[in-house]
Amino acid sequence: MTASLRIFYNSLGTPEMYAMIRERLGRTHLLITLDSDEDGERVAKIADCDVAIVAATPLTAEVIAAGSKLRLIHHQGVGYHDTVDLGAARAAGLRLATTPEGTSIGVAEHTVLLTLGAARRAAFADAELRQGRWHVNALRPVSVELFGKTVGFIGFGRIGQEAAARFAAFGTRIVYHDPEATVPNNLIARSAGFEEVIAEADVLTLHLPLTVETRHLISAQVLAWMKPSAILVNTARGGIVDDAALAEALAGGKLLAAGLDVFEGEPVGADHPLASLPNVFLTPHISAGTRDALRHKMDAIAANLDRFAKGEPLRNEIDLSC
Ligand code: NAD
Repeated sequence: MTASLRIFYNSLGTPEMYAMIRERLGRTHLLITLDSDEDGERVAKIADCDVAIVAATPLTAEVIAAGSKLRLIHHQGVGYHDTVDLGAARAAGLRLATTPEGTSIGVAEHTVLLTLGAARRAAFADAELRQGRWHVNALRPVSVELFGKTVGFIGFGRIGQEAAARFAAFGTRIVYHDPEATVPNNLIARSAGFEEVIAEADVLTLHLPLTVETRHLISAQVLAWMKPSAILVNTARGGIVDDAALAEALAGGKLLAAGLDVFEGEPVGADHPLASLPNVFLTPHISAGTRDALRHKMDAIAANLDRFAKGEPLRNEIDLSC
C-alpha cells in the first residue's frame, strides 16, 4: 500500500475544483487547500506538508522556506520557469516534477479558439449582439479565414506541435522557429529564423517558456516586423509580449487582431488598455483549464506520487542541479 502524503495545494480554487482533485488524490493522500489567497495562510499550511502542487499561482521563496518538511514540488502544468522560485527550491534540496499529461491538448485547442475568435472578432460580435447591435456587415471588411494562410510558431515543443497539427486541418502552412525542436515526419512544418517567422506569419503563435531571455521577446520593434494583416496569439506566458506595445500596435492598425490568454500582470482589470479594443479576443489564463485536463493531470500526479512514495523514479522530473 502507498504511504499517505500531506499535499499542499498552492492555488486558491473553488469547492468543485477541490472535490475533483480529492477524488483523484484524496483516497490515499491528505490534500491541504487554501481558504484565502493570502501568503500568510500558505506559510502556515505548507509547514507540515510533504508535497506542494503548483498551478498558475507562483510558489515563492518565502512559502518554500516555510515548508520545513517539503520534499517535492509537483507542477500541475509545465510552465514552472516563472511559477516556482527555482533558486529557493534548489537551495532547499527539493525535487520538481511537471505534468505535460493533460496540458498540451487543452492549450492547443485553446490556441485554435483564440485564433478563430480573433480572426472573426467573436468576443466583440457577441458582446455587441447582447447590447442589441447586429454587426452583420460591419465585420465583413475585417474578418479573415485561416485557409491558405501561414501560421508561424515561436517555440515548437509539445504544445506548439499539437497546435500545428490542428492548424494543418484548416489548410494552413506551418513555419516555426525553435532551435531545439524535434519534429515528427508526419507534421509538415518548415524551420526558419526568428525574423523570418515574424515577417511571414499571418498568424503568429507563441509556445515557449517565460525566462530572463524571453521576457519582451515580442517587443515594439518585433511587432513592427509583423504584417499589418497578421494576428498575434499568446497562450504561453504574459511577459513574453510587451503588452503596452501590443495595445498600441492594435489600436494604431499596425496589427489586425490578437487572441490572448496570458498577460503581463494577472489578473487583468477592465481598465486594461487591451480590454477596450474591439480587435482583441481575451481569456483569463484558461488554456489548460478544462475539467478533462484537470482529471488527466490529477491522474498523472497521483501516479507520480505513488512512485515518489515508493522511492521509484519520477516521470517528468526537472533536474534542478543545473
Ligand atoms: P516544451 O518544453 O515542450 O516546448 C517549449 C519549446 O520552446 C522548446 O522546444 C524550446 O526549445 C522552445 N524555446 C525556448 N526558448 C525559445 C526561444 N527563445 N525561441 C524559440 N523557441 C524557444 O513546452 P510546452 O509543453 O510546449 O509548453 C510551452 C509553454 O506553454 C510553457 O513553457 C508554458 O509557459 C506555456 N503554457 C501555458 C499554459 C496556459 O494555461 N496558458 C498552459 C501550459 C503551458
